[in-house]
Amino acid sequence: MEHVMAPRKTSYEPYDFANRRHIGPSPEEMAAMLDVVGAANLDVLIAETVPAGLRQAKQLDFGRPLSERGALDRLRETANKNRVLTSLIGQGYHGTIMPPAIQRNILENPAWYTAYTPYQPEISQGRLEALLNFQTLVADLTALDIANASLLDEATAAAEAMALAHRVTKSKATAFFVDAQCLPQTIAVLKTRAEPLGWEIVIGDPFDDLEPGRVFGALFQYPGVEGSFHDFSDVIAKLHEAQALAVVAADPLALALLKPPGEMGTDIAVGSMQRFGMPMGYGGPHAAYMAVKDAYKRALPGRLVGVSIDSRGNRAYRLALQTREQHIRRQSATSNICTAQVLPAVIASMYAVFHGPKGLKAIAERVHRKAARLADGLESLGFKIRPGAFFDTITVEVGPYQGLVMKNAIDNGINLRKVGTDRIGITVDECTRPDTLEAVWRAFGGDKLVYPETYPEYRLPKPLIRQSAYLTHPVFHMNRAESEMTRYMRRLADRDLALDRAMIPLGSCTMKLNATAEMQPITWPEFAEIHPFAPADQTLGYAEMIEDLSEKLCQITGYDAFSMQPNSGAQGEYAGLLTIRAYHKANGDDHRDICLIPASAHGTNPASATMSGFKVVVVGTDAHGNIDLADFRAKAEANAANLAAVMITYPSTHGVFEETLREICDTTHANGGQVYLDGANMNALVGLARPGDLGPDVGHLNLHKTFCIPHGGGGPGMGPIGVKAHLLPFLPGHPETGGNAMTVSAAPYGSACILAISWSYLLMMGGAGLTQATRVAILSANYIAARLSEAYDVLYTGSKGRIAHECIIDTRPLNASAGVTVDDIAKRLIDCGFHPPTMSWPVPGTLMVEPTESETKEELDRFCDAMLAIREEVSAIEQGRYHSTNNPLKNAPHTVEDLIGEWQRPYSRECACFPAGAFRVDKYWPPVNRVDNVHGDRHLVCSCPPMESYVKAGQTDEEARVSQA
Ligand SMILES: *Cc1c(COP(=O)(O)O)cnc(C)c1O
Repeated sequence: MEHVMAPRKTSYEPYDFANRRHIGPSPEEMAAMLDVVGAANLDVLIAETVPAGLRQAKQLDFGRPLSERGALDRLRETANKNRVLTSLIGQGYHGTIMPPAIQRNILENPAWYTAYTPYQPEISQGRLEALLNFQTLVADLTALDIANASLLDEATAAAEAMALAHRVTKSKATAFFVDAQCLPQTIAVLKTRAEPLGWEIVIGDPFDDLEPGRVFGALFQYPGVEGSFHDFSDVIAKLHEAQALAVVAADPLALALLKPPGEMGTDIAVGSMQRFGMPMGYGGPHAAYMAVKDAYKRALPGRLVGVSIDSRGNRAYRLALQTREQHIRRQSATSNICTAQVLPAVIASMYAVFHGPKGLKAIAERVHRKAARLADGLESLGFKIRPGAFFDTITVEVGPYQGLVMKNAIDNGINLRKVGTDRIGITVDECTRPDTLEAVWRAFGGDKLVYPETYPEYRLPKPLIRQSAYLTHPVFHMNRAESEMTRYMRRLADRDLALDRAMIPLGSCTMKLNATAEMQPITWPEFAEIHPFAPADQTLGYAEMIEDLSEKLCQITGYDAFSMQPNSGAQGEYAGLLTIRAYHKANGDDHRDICLIPASAHGTNPASATMSGFKVVVVGTDAHGNIDLADFRAKAEANAANLAAVMITYPSTHGVFEETLREICDTTHANGGQVYLDGANMNALVGLARPGDLGPDVGHLNLHKTFCIPHGGGGPGMGPIGVKAHLLPFLPGHPETGGNAMTVSAAPYGSACILAISWSYLLMMGGAGLTQATRVAILSANYIAARLSEAYDVLYTGSKGRIAHECIIDTRPLNASAGVTVDDIAKRLIDCGFHPPTMSWPVPGTLMVEPTESETKEELDRFCDAMLAIREEVSAIEQGRYHSTNNPLKNAPHTVEDLIGEWQRPYSRECACFPAGAFRVDKYWPPVNRVDNVHGDRHLVCSCPPMESYVKAGQTDEEARVSQA
């Protein structure tokens, strides 16, 4: 009998297997899409889209792409090169226990981690509630009036606080005082931020060296890096007499036991919520916080969740005071922060819900008792401990034995902190066990000390023990049975529309697949439980990953080196501009301070330029959304003497490959400037063109856009910068790892832990797979443009009628013909089961759609069908078949409430709730009708509202449950 075997397929395309899961459309679907687009094949389409002069000569080559299993094996091998010791280093990073229920239901749940920033409140009620809990938690712990919904890290939060103080102070002083007990990384970031703005940083002892009349503000650390803490009330009062502001950087766990900074009169409090359940992750991601007195709420940077009402008068959450966003304020924006730390903030808030105020206090007490126990033991061995009163950190005088004790500790599996040349710092935490303390004692020579049964005396001064209550709101008092906690997290998740339900076609945000296999390594202890300042020989795995990732990103971009320090895109812009500034300075060009930025740039660009000490000159754009070359040339030449930088976005924010990139770079260089390239749109370039070959000198990538780190509902992200060789000496350094005295983030490699996601993506896709992803992203965008172009105007196409990876749909004509606004269309898309596209940016009155390569044709079609059906509804208004103000568009989105009770609308309930695109069984129901933003800003409430307001505003199930409890 003949034995038949299928012939072995040898000439596979590398993107046939592993990345087949990443790329949405099947080969058959792609063929159908090309038909609609009117291109013979993908090569032809790409040739018509990306100007030939820009195309890279060499294909990306990372060797064979790895399967999911293969990539996880590689990550495992790398993780094993990190050594997980018990960290008692402290200095802003602590061991903590993430409750497993939170790990599985939030950190590892795509309903939470794939959500976008909650700009569309109707589909974001779940995470907005969690963030409101976060704000309430922070405001309560610090005893201040209002807190924002997270900042990037403690050091940058302190820098933002300094900037806030300068903005609101009446003092004419230009110096800022910094407590010598502040964390060294905070001091480094403050110095970096102050220098270009011409502010002097004065470091000293708050009680001996502070001259209130000389400063516009002062920062104190509570407790200090060496463990001491003081009541700052008197110094704060003196600062206020001199019109200066006080900032306290406080450990939130300590505040569960200690007098809060708000009760000392501070104006601002900042800090890190890391030890509320987020592992150290070699530096991040973690949520930092900022809380202020009510008087400064309008100057607060970052995002702020507030309470408002929907069109039925029901309570609804949304982002408050949106006018502060950089998109509107641009170069006069107060800060450049955009992506923050939403997912870590949600985790911190759930940690507080999980433990409640009593639980938090018990954790803080246990931590303190362990520190006291540790001190007792060391004192019994004859060591001198400073300070006498402490919370969780002590400093031990060891004279000439520092090296020996440090080494003994490592031999016992423990990292301690060197302080000066003759002391050692020790910080205990939630994870510290009796045997940890015994190991520390052994390291100090106490071989016979055993952990005693009795409680030690507190080492806290009585007047500084907290008397005031916190977390009195019912949400922090729910029944903490895990069944109830799980359901609470589930209910909130269900209110939101994330990538696990539908495509999120947000232009410029690249909401692509965040594969599960890429996410898995971030919770491995070998990545998660590493202190950012652990000795280098314990972090060889991280070093290998960062090096290989940098190398691959260099190959993709054509830059010569990368810095992984910036932990958001905007932070990357800031770091890149500071790099340019340092370069000019080294060349003796200190005077160069003009930064040209096109009017169409992302709002973070001008905000970052201002923060970097540059003066922004705006360049116009032409009718096609391209930079107005004549205007650009004129302004570059007019400012030649002082030109520092030009910031461009490529492909442009209008989704077009401008053919003039080289010319812009040449003109900039000829006039003495450097070119910064905003690489947020890199998803249109990977494998096709390399910015580094085309003239730019430095630019950031958004790893949370192009390279698969999920958006987390508004963070975390990573914004590493690439530079050409001449800028390499000016990249950021860090006090712990050396390099330049320019530091932009608290940790040397930013939110290092999540680099594992991007690295896994690159390993699994390989060079050809990445290039194919880019090509399909461009195909998908052109497919949507082709399908929608009969019904809508598609703005800005390239010279051959093609767009890049996103398309702009102009809805302004519909406003003229039917009174339908871009909001109406966006909200109606929610009824259809979609997250609305980017609204009114970069062009007012438009929707910018970016489908990415990860969506199937079926999903693209569902979106196009919904958009076309909406256009039909607009026609019905135009033709008078629908009422001009009482129609499905104006009343969108519709909720379950619309299915019950009286119905007197001139359209059916079916039409309201089940338009094209909406699923019958798996319908997404927004929990609120359209949210009234103006109401919310007029009646600003930014923490969990008191119980009485529930009755007034209509109680949700949640509150009914809580109030019955
Ligand atoms: C997203 C984006 C940024 C800002 O990135 P963040 O990580 O949010 O700070 C900057 N420029 C463009 C064009 C972007 O799309």
